[in-house]
Amino acid sequence: MKVRTRFAPSPTGFMHLGNLRTAIFEYLLARKYDGDFILRIEDTDKSRQVDGAIEFIYKTLELCGFKIDEGPMNEKEYGPYIQSERKEIYKKYALDLVEKGKAYYCFCTEEELEEMRNKANMRKRPFLYDGRCSKLSKEKIQENLDKGIPYVIRQKMPKTGVTIVEDEIYGKIKIDNSILDDQILLKSDGYPTYNFANVIDDHLMAITHVIRGKEYLDQTAKYNLLYDAFAWEKPKYIHVAMVLGEDGTKLSKRNGDASFMDLYDAGYLPEAIVNYLVLLGWSPEVNQEIFTMPELIANFNEKRISKSSSQYDLKKLQWFNHHYISKMEKDTYLNWVKKYLEYDVSDKTEKWVNHLLLIYQNTLNYGQEINDLVANFFKEIEVDQEAQEFMESDAIIKDVIKAFKEEVLKIEDWCPENISKAINNVKENVGVKGKLLYMPIRIQASGLMHGPELADTLYLIGKEKILARF
Ligand code: GLU
Repeated sequence: MKVRTRFAPSPTGFMHLGNLRTAIFEYLLARKYDGDFILRIEDTDKSRQVDGAIEFIYKTLELCGFKIDEGPMNEKEYGPYIQSERKEIYKKYALDLVEKGKAYYCFCTEEELEEMRNKANMRKRPFLYDGRCSKLSKEKIQENLDKGIPYVIRQKMPKTGVTIVEDEIYGKIKIDNSILDDQILLKSDGYPTYNFANVIDDHLMAITHVIRGKEYLDQTAKYNLLYDAFAWEKPKYIHVAMVLGEDGTKLSKRNGDASFMDLYDAGYLPEAIVNYLVLLGWSPEVNQEIFTMPELIANFNEKRISKSSSQYDLKKLQWFNHHYISKMEKDTYLNWVKKYLEYDVSDKTEKWVNHLLLIYQNTLNYGQEINDLVANFFKEIEVDQEAQEFMESDAIIKDVIKAFKEEVLKIEDWCPENISKAINNVKENVGVKGKLLYMPIRIQASGLMHGPELADTLYLIGKEKILARF
């Protein structure tokens, strides 16, 4: 049987990194077995939908380099792939269940339900629908339908016994049927609930492996009862533990957690994000951290997904990003990093800008950070106390400054090589070396005690400025 996995996000505006990690696992599993990766948009909760969210999802998957074999943009035989366009399908199957006696019409009003909820609250019990509408006579049901009374369709749960859920990661889970609510399958607005639609679609779309958040694990008992009611074969389930935010709580926009697009906009490379995320909650057999996509596909083993939740760690992500940045081809790096540079460089030559940016290729953690790193080349110098004290710490420093200025005056072609030679001449002529040679020049030129290579720093500051500062 051909492996078919699906990524089934709800377009609620924020695709957090946990959602993306699920997509990565689904993608890798499909690719590993030469299967299909399907995108399905679960938009049946219209109240939570956010404009532009669907585009956001496409963009994320595209940037990550995931080829979608079937989805709203490339419809195949199992479409439509947007749930709101499948309303009639769900209705047909819901009615089929009513026919089979596994579901029933419920005409309860909001007030009646509220009363049931209050009662449950008072008894400190979780609310379970009391099943009163399951006892309505055929005639009464028909009468209500004829009158146009709004209704929902509920799943009829067994009241005794247990339902088993088999999960590839968590093993066999037993759920007591007595705690299962006669959940709503079809809402009064005609839309299905997630709980119903996911089963219908996973079956009709021939999904073989369902990978999703662990929060759905217990719910899966209800889904299994639906599969049984239809006498359908169940998919393999792979529930994955949560990715927690840096503070150990659930990832959410409200907590200021970044989405993939936020990170992308800040200058994190998709391949670094994917590489980082896949290792959150999955451990390869090989002792390796950096993986190309083909290596990930070859090494992915769903059995090695972890049972426990993992914590997002920005520093670790930066480590991956830094690695990928440092490995970029020079030209690719330059084109990429220039997008993040906010300083006005219109009066600089391209050579100068490139030189500046290349110096930081091995230091940079993310694109926007370039602005902090290069800041000193765009502002007037400030000499702090420590640097000031250093400048007064030895009588020879004045000679170094004087000798270097003379050397600078002699340089015709202002380039790092000639600047290095000039520094060397000072070393010979004044007879100093090490810190007493380099530090005075650096401080006098930049005001700082640290920075990139001295010759590069001086080159970038420029001959004119150096002469003025010395
Ligand atoms: N639409 C669900 C969500 O976004 C998907 C869960 C699933 O993959 O079945 O959480």
